[in-house]
Amino acid sequence: MIYLDNAATTKPCAECVKAVNEAVENSFGNASSLHKIGTISIQTIAKTKKTLLSAVTGTKKPFDGEVLFTSGATESNNTALWGIVNRYKHSGNKIVSTAIEHPSVAKTLTRIEENGYEVVRLAPKDSDDFVQALIDAVDENTVLLSAMAVNNETGFKIDVPRLYREVKRKNPKTIVHIDAVQGFLKIPLDGDLISVSGHKVHSTKGIGALFIKKGVSIIPLLTGGGQQNSLRSGTEPVELIAGFEAAVHAYKGSEEHFSNLKTRLLQRLAKLKDIGINSGVNCVPNIVNFSVRGVRSEIMLHSLEEEEIYVSSGSACSKGKKSEVLPAFGISDKDADCTVRVSFSAETTENDIDLLCDKIEKTIERIRR
Ligand code: PLP
Repeated sequence: MIYLDNAATTKPCAECVKAVNEAVENSFGNASSLHKIGTISIQTIAKTKKTLLSAVTGTKKPFDGEVLFTSGATESNNTALWGIVNRYKHSGNKIVSTAIEHPSVAKTLTRIEENGYEVVRLAPKDSDDFVQALIDAVDENTVLLSAMAVNNETGFKIDVPRLYREVKRKNPKTIVHIDAVQGFLKIPLDGDLISVSGHKVHSTKGIGALFIKKGVSIIPLLTGGGQQNSLRSGTEPVELIAGFEAAVHAYKGSEEHFSNLKTRLLQRLAKLKDIGINSGVNCVPNIVNFSVRGVRSEIMLHSLEEEEIYVSSGSACSKGKKSEVLPAFGISDKDADCTVRVSFSAETTENDIDLLCDKIEKTIERIRR
């Protein structure tokens, strides 16, 4: 099997599986219990927080704030967006965002818009300096800026530390939320709120985190027993939290490895006719999106599947539906119909890329004949 769909989800690493199993056996106590078994869970949670706070910035400086555990980035994004608009109602009613957000941000912002907010959504195709365009859109009425660090369909990335610094310089009251699901452990990050997900970094599904900068507060989405300082009620899934720590600790993805794979893939694709590359220079190297003109995405996907090569047509959650994001990159409808998204992990080899390209070539020959 050649698994090249790591932007959709990753295989839990051995370290994660071991940590989950050990926690199931030994750390099953409720972190709210006052006895020794509960204390072991509290320690597991504290250890994970420390690891995440050090890892998230992508620099030597740990994140200066708190971390909430959630069920995944969909919940982190909902918690962040509703949490901010409900908390800072009076600091303005304008929200700046992008036209390339994941549905967990895009649809939440549409709901918020229906509640009377003005939401401005900028598209990368409309500016040479996208970060500057986002900064320029912020004014004294902007309560929130929400932007993704790395786009899940094309790998397009933004300079997050620059965005955060400049937005704060322009309006210190604007809260900056970063959906960093695809950027976590790959690029430097900063923000008032940062959403990440475990299953994209070789942890299990069902665990995510929301980082909250010191001094920023939110109105909680989930109320109940008051866990996690009452910011996210619900018994902490300590087994998944232990697995998350182990996965982040053991993460092996390297920019150099991904860049080599991307270069090889692009070199092979360059030899084929009628290929459009949708992941340009401003992209992370682990996600490569391209269009094989004349071969619809589903046909290519199923053809590759015959050889047990697994890629995707766009985002996993769109399940074959037309991408609403690709037009915002200036990609035509025709090209969007035949996109292939290949996403690497540390385990991906150059041989995997060669086998992928061999099969793409054969499929093209068969279909375009
Ligand atoms: N944001 C981005 C950019 C994503 O790629 C995804 C998942 O694909 C999500 C949010 C949602 O994450 P989760 O599956 O953890 O809810």
